[in-house]
Parts: sequence; C-alpha cells; structure tokens
Amino acid sequence: MAQRGIVYLVGAGPGDPGLMTRRSLELIASADAILYDRLIPANALEGAREDCELRYVGKAPGNVAMSQERINELLVELGSSGKQVVRLKGGDPFVFGRGGEEAAALHEAGVPFEVVPGVTAGVAAPAYAGIPVTNRGAAAAVAFVTGHEAPGKQQSDIDWTGLAGFPGTLVFYMGVKNLPLIADALIAAGRDPGEPAAVVRHGTLPDQRTVTAPLADIAERVAEAGLTAPAITVVGPAVGLRDTLAWLERRPLHGKRVAVTRARAQASGLAAKLHELGADVVETPAIRIEPRPIEGEILAAVDVLAGRERPPADAAAATRTGDSGYALVCFTSTNGVRLFLSALATRGLDALALAAPAIAAIGPGTAAELARQGVHADVVPERSVAEALVEALVDTPVEGRRVLVARGGGGRDVLPEALRGRGAEVDVIGLYDTVVEPLSQEQREALANVDYVTFTSASSVRNLLTSLGASAPDAGFASHIDGEAASDAPDGAPAALGHARLASIGPITSETARELGLTVDVEAKNHDVDGLVEALVADAIERAGAADRP
Ligand code: SAH
Repeated sequence: MAQRGIVYLVGAGPGDPGLMTRRSLELIASADAILYDRLIPANALEGAREDCELRYVGKAPGNVAMSQERINELLVELGSSGKQVVRLKGGDPFVFGRGGEEAAALHEAGVPFEVVPGVTAGVAAPAYAGIPVTNRGAAAAVAFVTGHEAPGKQQSDIDWTGLAGFPGTLVFYMGVKNLPLIADALIAAGRDPGEPAAVVRHGTLPDQRTVTAPLADIAERVAEAGLTAPAITVVGPAVGLRDTLAWLERRPLHGKRVAVTRARAQASGLAAKLHELGADVVETPAIRIEPRPIEGEILAAVDVLAGRERPPADAAAATRTGDSGYALVCFTSTNGVRLFLSALATRGLDALALAAPAIAAIGPGTAAELARQGVHADVVPERSVAEALVEALVDTPVEGRRVLVARGGGGRDVLPEALRGRGAEVDVIGLYDTVVEPLSQEQREALANVDYVTFTSASSVRNLLTSLGASAPDAGFASHIDGEAASDAPDGAPAALGHARLASIGPITSETARELGLTVDVEAKNHDVDGLVEALVADAIERAGAADRP
C-alpha cells in the first residue's frame, strides 16, 4: 500500500525561537516538504532534514505573494502524493493565518490534516511588552480583531460600535497602516479617547519596540516613532499595567547588540547567557575547532595512561619512580577535555583512566567540563593562564615523572618548558586545530553595527582580524585603533568592528588585542565565560547610568 500523505498546519510562534512548540520542532525534523511564510522564526527550518523540500510561499517585500488558491492546490498536491507536509505559519495557524481555508481545501480533497497551534502574536507581543491581555479588574475579556480592513469600507465585517463597547482588551493584527482610521473609528463609536493603547513591533524579537499613548494620540506617536508592520495594537485598561510590568526592557543587556566570536561549537553557552540578559546576539565565529584524528601521539598518550604501552626509553624512569603511567595530566581547554575523553573511548576507556594521576586544569570552564565527565581537577590556578598553573603546581612532585599536557595544537610552550625545567618528562599532545572561518557579508555587516564584540581567547582576536582583513571593505580605521599599532593589524579589519566596545576574557587576550592595534574597553576579572558576561553587564549598566546623568 502506498504511504498515505498528511499535511500538518503548524504554528511557529511569534518570532522568538524559544516559543516554538515541541511538536512543531518534531514535525519540522521529520517533514518531507515544508511550505513556509515570511513571519517565522529565523532559525525555524534549521532542524529540517537535508533532503526536505523547502518552499517559500509568503510575501516578500516588493514581491507578489503566491495566491492562496495556489498554496491550497500545492498542499493538496503534496499531501496526495504520499508526503508528510508541514505548512508552517507565523504565530497560530488559525488566528488570522488563513489556516482555516487551507484545512477546508484539504478536507475537500480528502487529504488528511492535523492542526498544531502556536503562540499567537496577539498574546505574545503584549506579554513581552508587559501587558497581560486579560487581568482581574482591568480586562475580563479579549477580542482579536483584524486591522486589515479599513474602517469606513462598505460592507465591513467589523462592527465598530460593538468593538467600541467591548468590555475588555482589543488586540488588532495587521493594523499599523490603518491605525489612524482604527483609532478614529473606535472613538467615534464611543470608546474613551483617554484609554491607554500600545503598539508592539517585532514582538518577542531582539529588536522589539513598544510605543504607548492614549487612544486619541497613539497613531501620531507611532508615526513619530516610525513603527511599521508587523506590529500588534492593544487597546484597553490592561495596557496601563505595562507601567509596572514591563520586564523586557529592564534586562541589563536589553537593546545591546553583542558579537560572539567564539567557535560555533562553544559559542552557544556564551550566546545563551547574553541572550538571557536581553542582548541581541550576533554570532561571528572567526574560528572553528577541528579535532585532529585520534592516532599517533594522541593514542600513544592514551596507552601510556592506560599502562598499556611503554616505550623502552622510559622503562628506567618508570622503575625509578615506581609508577607506570602519567603522574600528572594538564588540561588547558574544554575542547581538550572533551576530545581527550573521546580518545580514551576509542580504546574502551573512560574517566576512570584519569583516576590515578593528579589532574590540573587551566580555567574554571575546563575544570567544570572535567567535573561533567566525572573527573575532579586537583589543581586549578586562580588566573587562567599557563604561568599561573606553573605556580600552582610548585607543590606537585614532577621530578623524574611523566606528565601529559593535553591541549590544542600550536599552544604556548610555557607550561611544558617549566615542567621540563623541574625534571619532568613531558608529553604534549595537540588534540585539535583552530581554523579561521571566513565571515559572510551578512556577518560583516552585523559586526559593523554591534555595541560589543566579545573575545574569549587570544586566538579568537587574531583569527577574527585575519578573517576580516582578508577582503574587508576599506572604511578607514575606527577610533579605537591606537596610532601606529594599527599597522600590525590586517588592513581594514579593525574598522570593520565599527564603534563597538571590545570585551576580553582576560589579560592575555587583551594583550593580543592591543598588540594588534585594538583598544580593549572591558576585561573580565574572572577569566571565564561568566566573568566575561559579568564584566560586560557591569560596563553596560555603568554606561547607561552615565548616559542618564545630566
Ligand atoms: N497567525 C499569526 C498572525 C498572522 S497575521 C499569529 O497568530 O500571530 C500577521 C500579523 O500578525 C502582523 O501584521 C502583525 O500584526 C502580527 N504579528 C505577527 N508576528 C508579530 C510579531 N512578532 N510582533 C508583532 N506583531 C506580529
């Protein structure tokens, strides 16, 4: 029997990817075909299968939309051909989404369908603006109204007198263009001109903006502020609650655009933290972590650790010290930890293999990754630099013993040299390489307009400048380039950072930035991701305070 097709009418929510339902993500991940609109979250299709047929059927600004009839036909066609089809719409499919018409067409053609509700903009945008659409005392009912129909139109579907007398909150979709007419029509029909009203543009998105005013003035205020579609208009006493309940704007990084230059695999932690605090995060990964194949020196080290292999030259040392593997293993990065544990796994080993040696870690993040893997770090220096680890290891006996330094390729030699100086036999293994990733034009443009650029390592500074310098449009040097040092930086690269403030994770990263002609504005006191976020927030608050002072 041929596979039976089905069409899912799925709501993708108002824009914040976090507001997509679990069901919508599952269906996107398994769909054969997805037909999508314009107002869906930016990364909504990321989870789709590689061979999934993606079709844009929305209105592009300046383009004619595919007609609703054609969309209906397409859905019927795809659904009848045995495919699992997702029809992905902004917000909720049955709230001003024409989902009802599509369902009717499918029903008529005998194609099975299901409806997956989404978070509708008319509830979510007000919520993100601190406006509860219903509230005890202020609003006992809510009406969702289309603002698409200009009042005054002959045979309007909208009962303006009824709406003016509606005892609760009015929520208008698609009403920005008609706002002057809508406000006039409501007031003419008897709504209180002094009632609070709000327009929320790009609700739940990083650039959400809200304008509030009494109903009589709202159209003028919105025009002055230049707010355009897509926006939700809310009218009613509940809008007044925003004065106390506005929460979005109170987040410390609200309205700040922050670039994260870490490699993508690691950026998520930093990006998520910044996003939580309200920042609009732009990912410009200058670097990518490329694991090296697990062979050669890496496997040799694993075998030494497991006591399985012992080059004859070391036999004497082993006899002298009476142990058979490493006395100390040093990790310098979370990647190093993860990749070394994977290397252990290829030999059927796990964290237990690290139970015997003393374990040292540079950076609390590295120690935390070890802890996640079930390994306790015995030595974690306060400052996250090799020199500090060398100091912290003074009481760890290494003379005549084998030590492993597991890290990225091309690291500095401070630690191995110091340990060798104290009589240790040191193996250094490079578990990964850091590869420069070219930035797209879009990322370059985003980077030119950020408030902060974060650097979590010296190499991320170097690599960002390299990847920018390659073909950056020459815009002259920005103000944060210090005179002559600029000549060390790839031409044009620092200019591409616009007027952003630069935030560094620690002194080594800062020093590298300065050597390359940049000015570091913010340096973390604790040299980890949390420390960087903390320093950035403190700077943003301080500057906001300074801006407020007369
Ligand atoms: N089905 C959608 C609405 C589609 S109609 C839903 O349930 O949300 C399109 C209108 O929705 C826009 O004109 C605008 O009024 C509103 N809208 C959609 N996303 C929005 C957002 N992020 N912020 C504000 N309004 C939005």
